[in-house]
Order: sequence, then C-alpha cells, then structure tokens
Amino acid sequence: MNYKIKCIRCKKNYQLVVKPTRYVTCYECQKSELVGEITDVEMKKMFDIPEQFYKDNMFLRDIKIKYLMYKNLSEKQVAAFIKAVEKMKKASEEK
Ligand SMILES: [Zn+2]
Repeated sequence: MNYKIKCIRCKKNYQLVVKPTRYVTCYECQKSELVGEITDVEMKKMFDIPEQFYKDNMFLRDIKIKYLMYKNLSEKQVAAFIKAVEKMKKASEEK
C-alpha cells in the first residue's frame, strides 16, 4: 500500500510513501542535496541505482543526503539502504 503525501517544502508535489509520514519532502525539493562527489568506491557502487528509485523512495534519498553530509553511514543504514534497493528492484521486475 502506497500513500501520496504532499511535500511540506513546496506544498505542491506529492511523494509516494509506504506508510503515513508527516514530514514528507519531494524529489524536486531535495534534488540539489543529492548532488555531490562520492569518492569511496563501495559507497559509489551502492548509490549507483536508477534515478527513478530516488524519485520514488524518500528513504533512499535521505540516506544519500546523510552520506553526502557526513561522509559516513552506520552499518544499519547501509543494510537498510541495500534492502530497500533490492525490494524496489524486485518490484520493478514484477511489473
Ligand atoms: Zn517539494
């Protein structure tokens, strides 16, 4: 089940979320924050996913933005990111 929630920043675009969330930001509003150089090879590979995944999934964007800010992620965050990507890959294959 997916929910469409209005972005709190632009109050214009909608974002898909899997559970009701209060603070929702759309892809367009976060676009500039998603740009940055990733030098770590492992991380670069991990974040190299279809742009559509970032558009559809706010969680993936949050993790990438966090990494670009702090250049560091916890093991838990990495595992959750990989899991979410796998789930999305599966879902897109089933279409
Ligand atoms: Zn927005």
